[in-house]
Amino acid sequence: MIIENNIRRFEAELAGTGARLVVVTKTHPVEKLREAYEAGARIFGENRPQEMAAKQPELPADVEWHLIGHLQTNKVKLLAPFVHTVQSIDSLRLLQELDKHAARHNRVINGLLQFYIAREEAKSGLSWEEAEELLSSEAYRQLKNVRLTGVMGVATFTEDENQLRAEFGQLRGYFQELKSRYFAQEPHFSEVSMGMSGDYRLALAEGSTLIRVGSAIFGSRG
Ligand SMILES: *Cc1c(COP(=O)(O)O)cnc(C)c1O
Repeated sequence: MIIENNIRRFEAELAGTGARLVVVTKTHPVEKLREAYEAGARIFGENRPQEMAAKQPELPADVEWHLIGHLQTNKVKLLAPFVHTVQSIDSLRLLQELDKHAARHNRVINGLLQFYIAREEAKSGLSWEEAEELLSSEAYRQLKNVRLTGVMGVATFTEDENQLRAEFGQLRGYFQELKSRYFAQEPHFSEVSMGMSGDYRLALAEGSTLIRVGSAIFGSRG
């Protein structure tokens, strides 16, 4: 009931913005994912490949599974049969591994380039220079079974709204720059994944197209 109400509240808030809700289900049992599904949620975000691979067969096939945490190349095979989008692309090597496994399953896996935007050492992601190097490489051009559909970032854990706006604005700027330099002919390069329970409103104001929300829907993770 609470989960359902929360999801409906988010869907109402997103109506007309063009942005979509990624329901972050990490740590929560399958029953809660089913409840979210019944309420209409179709995009689920998990941060651990093993956990996602264990839950996926328990949910209907039309769920879009998004990996939002770091992916080690040796875990790619767990996800390759079903994952819709890997939001945490942080190396060419990871893209190559995804490409190889996606080809074996005759499918295309979407990826978002994860950028480092926070003023916190612990957060991960590419720098602008690293992203340009990746996109300019011949090895990248040869990939056939992965498709980059946008960018993702995690902002600093802070209540300083100016800082959050600046970080979200930076990611949006990266997206626009990449779009014009590398993806001008590719309409599917369209996603800016930013904003979580505590900061999604600011992210939406800065142009988010995918907000990733966990605790504001399920309560805090114990
Ligand atoms: C856990 C997580 C979220 C959701 O965080 P909440 O604060 O619970 O909404 C979003 N993005 C990433 C990358 C996460 O790891």
